[in-house]
Amino acid sequence: MNRRTLLTGLASLPVLPLFSGFTLAADSPLSAQPPTRLAHPPSYWRDKVSAEAWKVLFEEATERPGSSPLDQFYEPGNYLCAACYLPLFRSEDKYDSGTGWPSFTQPIEGALGTKLDFRLLWPRTEYHCARCGGHQGHVFNDGPAPLGKRWCNNGVALRFVPADQPLPPLRG
Ligand SMILES: [Zn+2]
Repeated sequence: MNRRTLLTGLASLPVLPLFSGFTLAADSPLSAQPPTRLAHPPSYWRDKVSAEAWKVLFEEATERPGSSPLDQFYEPGNYLCAACYLPLFRSEDKYDSGTGWPSFTQPIEGALGTKLDFRLLWPRTEYHCARCGGHQGHVFNDGPAPLGKRWCNNGVALRFVPADQPLPPLRG
């Protein structure tokens, strides 16, 4: 936990209720239809993702800053949930926040749900994949204009698909 994260954590106030505003379709990942919410227990995903990814996604662990190859990575493409493959972010919205975690100015509409996290004494707004419920990261109010948001994501919880490759089918 670095100083920047401590300070920005204080500025992060409630934004949205959990899993509000679904707009993605399960059968058409980038379209504007609600995703089908999966009801699998965390154990369902154990053999489908790495041990490190599982801890982040289903035990809400946080990867060490600077540890993800996706942090300093700016190729064109889409960032999918590492568990269920729902597209969560586009490369156009990725930027270098200097925090050591992959950061985005906005998610794909409806791909994420948020809730307050009081784990660190002050509230932070954490967000989850709207389809499988996997924990991805936290959103802060110190992002670049005009949106002003920093969606701070664990790289290990993402799967990158280059723009010139087809998206894999959703799984789960
Ligand atoms: Zn997911």
